[in-house]
Amino acid sequence: MKLDPFDKVVKKRSAIPSLILGAAGLLGLIVAIFFWLVGEMEKPQVVIAGDISHIGLTKQLSFVVSDAKSGVRSIEIAMVQENKKALLLERIYPRSGYFSGAGPHTIEETIEVTPKVLGFKDGAGQLVVTVSDFSWWNWLRGNVTVHASALVVDTKPPAISVTDSPQYIKGGGAGVVIYRVNEPVGKHGVVVNDVFYPGFPLPKRGEGVYGACMGLPHDIAKIEQAFVSVADLAGNEGKAPFSMNLHVRKVVSDKLTISDGFLSAKMPEFAGHYPELSGTLVEQYITVNNDVRQANYKKIQEVCTKFQPERLWDGRFSRMAASSPRAGFADHRTYLYNGESIDQQVHLGVDLASLQHAKVEAANRGLVVFAEYLGIYGNTVILDHGQGIFSLYSHLSQIDVSVGSMVEKDSVVGLSGTTGMAGGDHLHFSILVNGIFVDPVEWWDEEWLKLHMLSVL
Ligand SMILES: [Zn+2]
Repeated sequence: MKLDPFDKVVKKRSAIPSLILGAAGLLGLIVAIFFWLVGEMEKPQVVIAGDISHIGLTKQLSFVVSDAKSGVRSIEIAMVQENKKALLLERIYPRSGYFSGAGPHTIEETIEVTPKVLGFKDGAGQLVVTVSDFSWWNWLRGNVTVHASALVVDTKPPAISVTDSPQYIKGGGAGVVIYRVNEPVGKHGVVVNDVFYPGFPLPKRGEGVYGACMGLPHDIAKIEQAFVSVADLAGNEGKAPFSMNLHVRKVVSDKLTISDGFLSAKMPEFAGHYPELSGTLVEQYITVNNDVRQANYKKIQEVCTKFQPERLWDGRFSRMAASSPRAGFADHRTYLYNGESIDQQVHLGVDLASLQHAKVEAANRGLVVFAEYLGIYGNTVILDHGQGIFSLYSHLSQIDVSVGSMVEKDSVVGLSGTTGMAGGDHLHFSILVNGIFVDPVEWWDEEWLKLHMLSVL
């Protein structure tokens, strides 16, 4: 058989490439094994918790460093400002093997940063986190991640000037404090005794101008301290005291007789909502009037902790149409059963009676933030009027609004009724300032609102 010369040439040519291919294949396999076993190319991860853009006198710095494959070999955290560098943390981990997991996969830690102690001054700087892993990649140096974050060292408290504050305020009364701050703010507001009233921006009055609405508890006897408190973005806190004359509220007492008829008509409603109630009807009544009342108030405070920062209301708050007052704000009630005192509570709203199932209208424009059954309050609607002001409507026989909807002033939110701790059909109406019940009388008074609220807000 005669060989075709062309065929030969082809054969000669194919011998060398296949050798090369073989060698390349082997090299490829070695490289693959190298990368798989010891030369992974995945960089370590650095995650810093929270905002570290502003650092005050001290700052807790929490971080998570991770490397899923070969593991973490070293961590260095440094703070840098101009030519100055200070090491905050330096860690080198011993090699615990030659393959995956030669070092820890995850390190979670919190360190304290104290710029002043380290000799840094107020101004711009950087936080640099450098992490390497145990990979043989990068000429055995491993994969390296450098995570740099810009920051500002700020150790000075903000400067605050109080521009408006009430001269007089009543127990159960309200007022506004206006203040100006020279730098961006974190948490801010007004403190009276041990109550914090959160502030809100007033952009119409200028940049850096804020307000806070106060509502004093009805039984406040003395103003021990009153000041504006502002934390800046670095956490430095500034305080600016102000003074107010307090009109202590006179105690008004009231007696309420609890009859067997009332108990047998009312207690099954509570037993349905609170199956844990036990004992005689009077005992159940006392539990509801105390424990359930407390739990309900806690819920109301919770609802009132968050508010719309802008003012949704305007003008006077309306009072239920064609209604007569049945009980006043902050009446100290003694509950009598068979002529004997069984309980005492303070009535933190105004009772207004009209016709049965009368229309209950929104006292002012607001956002519905609560619309359901609430123990002694029965079916209840709470409106957020913005800037810490809320109104509450309870004992409703019907609720006509739902949470999240905006209601206009005088639009119907429900119908009056006897749900909750109510003997006869009436509306229990309350105004709250940051979760503290205040006297609605001020809020029904157009002149008072103009003078003390609207002129400054
Ligand atoms: Zn009431």
